[in-house]
Amino acid sequence: MTPAKRKITVLPGDGIGPEVVESALEIIQATAIAIEFEKCEAGAGAFQKGIVTGIPRETIESIERTHVVLKGPLETPIGYGNRSANVTLRTLFETYGNIRPVRELPGVQTAFTGRKLDIVIVRENIEDLYAGIEYMETPGVAEGLKLITREGCEKIVKLAFAFALAEGRKRVHCATKSNIMKLTEGLLQHTFEEFAAQYPSIESKHILIDNCAHQLAMRPEQFDVIVTTNMNGDILSDLTSGLTGGLGFAPSANIGNDVSIFEAVHGSAPDIAGKNKANPTALILSAAMMLRQIGEVKAANDVEQAVLVTLESGVRTGDMMGADKAATTTEFTRAVIGNLGKRSKVSPPKQYRAVELPPAQVGVNVVAAKSRRLAGLDVYIETDMDPRNLASDLEKLTTTSPLKLQMITNRGALVFPSNDRRVSLVDHFRCRFVLREATASFGDAEILSLLGAISAKHRWMHIEKLQEFDGEPAFSKSQV
Ligand code: NAP
Repeated sequence: MTPAKRKITVLPGDGIGPEVVESALEIIQATAIAIEFEKCEAGAGAFQKGIVTGIPRETIESIERTHVVLKGPLETPIGYGNRSANVTLRTLFETYGNIRPVRELPGVQTAFTGRKLDIVIVRENIEDLYAGIEYMETPGVAEGLKLITREGCEKIVKLAFAFALAEGRKRVHCATKSNIMKLTEGLLQHTFEEFAAQYPSIESKHILIDNCAHQLAMRPEQFDVIVTTNMNGDILSDLTSGLTGGLGFAPSANIGNDVSIFEAVHGSAPDIAGKNKANPTALILSAAMMLRQIGEVKAANDVEQAVLVTLESGVRTGDMMGADKAATTTEFTRAVIGNLGKRSKVSPPKQYRAVELPPAQVGVNVVAAKSRRLAGLDVYIETDMDPRNLASDLEKLTTTSPLKLQMITNRGALVFPSNDRRVSLVDHFRCRFVLREATASFGDAEILSLLGAISAKHRWMHIEKLQEFDGEPAFSKSQV
């Protein structure tokens, strides 16, 4: 009996998507591996049919069956639909890790040619500011929640090291802004440092994200794998694409416990859609990553090598050549198919293994503290009062509370008790209350009573409990 063919969900997508996806499918078919494609709709067409997520039910069912997706770019709707189909896919299937490799490609001339760049950004893909939890706190002050979890950090750190091992890589950098955001970005740094010890064969190093960006522009060859939070990774990975030739060459994999989605980093490029001009390299290299992940390692190497040989031979699309001698998408695809089985002179295949994914954590993940204590309360108040007057008012309103006003900040800067700094104020004050007696305790009843007293005179937007876990403060101090 012939073994069943491996099924893959294919989303041709929008703009240049159908052209570059078709190119990759023709090349995969030419490798003659046993594979079957389930082509499904997602993106603009679905939005226009009134599917608010941009992802029809049949597409979700296909992905649930196949667990692997080769995806063209999806337009983010403007004027119809209400969210990005890309974000819906990532969230729906919890593809928590975004892997974006870039390397020097033969014949693709850049400012860094000859420096043998081969860098992978491993980006957390679900959390951070990109969860999109935002509020207008006052008509003039916007707030976004930067949510970083221990679970999210563990998963992305383990993925980064698993990927490094699978590709025989030597070094993993963790890039964060933990010097400023000690709790959120710091959580990734601490998790990284804790888990790095389990991978003694790989050098591990923390680097501040701004220095990382600088070093990537100055001496990018020092980097191998970089693991980072969602927004940092979004920016850094576009930067690294730029180092090696641009968006037309940058593949990516969105890795989840159950589903993985492979796609080019670029978007739908509507200006060149339907013109047979698009560079399919990024999507073809994404397809090679997909083949490797499903265990078709030889086919993956063949496809990747055929792309390198094609580029070496001088066949290039318009984004590299200008209009004159440019190959069309179809010509480039035919050239790659013609080069299947050949090996690059400058960049022979590496010894890849499939990435061993860390096991899924199911249910509600809890990090337990041995002890916890409520140490105070931050109350956010909207007012146009001078901070000294606001403080005097709050002190009068809370004389009977076990909590006393400790400080007031405006956009993080201390404005009470010290008020010597020239701070430009907005109508959004963080008023911190702490226990009058350090050894006393308080609970929700005292908080509600305090809020009742404050709300008699002031408009408050939200509160944050100041907690201590295992004796350590679980909140930031003011940026004096
Ligand atoms: P883009 O589609 O990546 O295109 C920007 C420019 O880059 C294009 O105009 C084109 O430049 C060039 N380009 C990109 N890919 C190329 C390729 N394969 N071959 C040749 N040239 C290529 O970015 P955008 O214009 O900001 O976004 C367009 C739409 O795509 C938006 O709706 C956006 O939301 C969506 N998008 C989707 C994804 C995704 O699905 N993952 C990712 C990013 C953006 P020239 O002017 O030189 O032709």
